[in-house]
Amino acid sequence: MSSADDFRAEVRDWLSRVPRPEGLHDYGPTPTPDDIAAGRQWQRQLCEAGYACLHWPVGRGGREASVAEQAAFAEECALAGVPRQFHLVGPDLAGPVLMAYGSPEQCDDLLEPIRTGEHLWCQLFSEPGAGSDLASVRTKAVAVDDGWLVDGQKVWTSGAADAQYGLLLARTGGPGHAGLSAFVVPMDTPGIAIRPLRQMNGENKFNEVFLDGVQLGRAALVGAEGQGWAVATATLGRERLSLGSNAVGMLRALEEVAAAARERGRLDVHLEGRIVDSWLGVWLLRSTWERAVDEGTPPTGSAFSVLKMISTRTYQAIGELGMEALGLDAMASEQDEPLVDRMLVAHAQSILGGTTEIQRNILGERLLGLPREPKP
Ligand SMILES: Cc1cc2nc3c(=O)[nH]c(=O)nc-3n(C[C@H](O)[C@H](O)[C@H](O)COP(=O)(O)OP(=O)(O)OC[C@H]3O[C@@H](n4cnc5c(N)ncnc54)[C@H](O)[C@@H]3O)c2cc1C
Repeated sequence: MSSADDFRAEVRDWLSRVPRPEGLHDYGPTPTPDDIAAGRQWQRQLCEAGYACLHWPVGRGGREASVAEQAAFAEECALAGVPRQFHLVGPDLAGPVLMAYGSPEQCDDLLEPIRTGEHLWCQLFSEPGAGSDLASVRTKAVAVDDGWLVDGQKVWTSGAADAQYGLLLARTGGPGHAGLSAFVVPMDTPGIAIRPLRQMNGENKFNEVFLDGVQLGRAALVGAEGQGWAVATATLGRERLSLGSNAVGMLRALEEVAAAARERGRLDVHLEGRIVDSWLGVWLLRSTWERAVDEGTPPTGSAFSVLKMISTRTYQAIGELGMEALGLDAMASEQDEPLVDRMLVAHAQSILGGTTEIQRNILGERLLGLPREPKP
């Protein structure tokens, strides 16, 4: 057995014994406001058992776990129906960025509360005019005597309404990558206004964040002035580590689809064939993922663009199958019908973590050597 297999067995045993905080469920990378208390308590339990921030250095409370061990942990948590951590941005994005670029003081003050779940972080990158083309961020940070003055607007900020800190990408210089810098922002700083955005499944994980004359100290800068692009790109990709464990949820959803169709007398040859096609998609995802993990492929590599595309396509196909299984019941059902919720959430898959069109550009240009896309 590999060390990842041993670790998987240890985690499975722990998950079978540990008491669950009331109301805890697998809510994905960001808790809704209703999930915060149970998610935070869960993070404390992960911390006590030594399973919080697995990939962090031992000196910062992590285990320096391999990608294979992290993948095994994520999959066991998905099988047990619990989140693998309180939230994504602090442990997976802000923490590693602070360790790579932050000052010793930033690391000493900010890392431990991420690990224990005391602090929730959000990622203040996307703007109304800057998503796929992140280098066109317009939020400005101007150097003043004792620090920085920030003005601008962010959008699609997951978890901002509940976050204690944000990792901000703002313009400190001229146009393009070189004019960007990264900052740590306490979310209760005067001048920050947060407006929740209601999603079509009724949840409000997203927010608009308005920054109006926000004063930050000098120590808020992460790395050097103009190093924001390096910081931003270092944060991208880690969410792809969950792509393999998503397969667990997809297999479960396919079982629910078949059961819902059988219950309603709608399980005909046509639907059965499509369920099998999606089942094949899930196994393609699972085995391609396993190979990428075994080969130690970094989550930013082109192989992960392939995985992202397989995952998106299969996730969305299962969403549509759920609607066919429910038939007219889908229209009449409450929002909390899991198959309806799954179909609505599936739409986000082709946008988050790099849109499908951007993944196609990456594969076409980097793997197939096709001509580069014309710049707008
Ligand atoms: C669930 C979820 C959570 C998110 N959480 C956060 C968060 O916490 N913090 C944060 O900062 N952002 C977050 N985002 C925002 C996300 O990063 C952006 O939505 C994403 O980068 C796309 O940007 P956009 O929405 O501005 O679309 P645009 O970039 O404007 O794209 C619009 C359309 O044009 C296409 N397109 C764009 N450029 C090209 C091109 N060069 N070639 C071909 N087609 C192109 C796109 O594929 C898309 O179909 C989240 C998004 C989702 C769905």
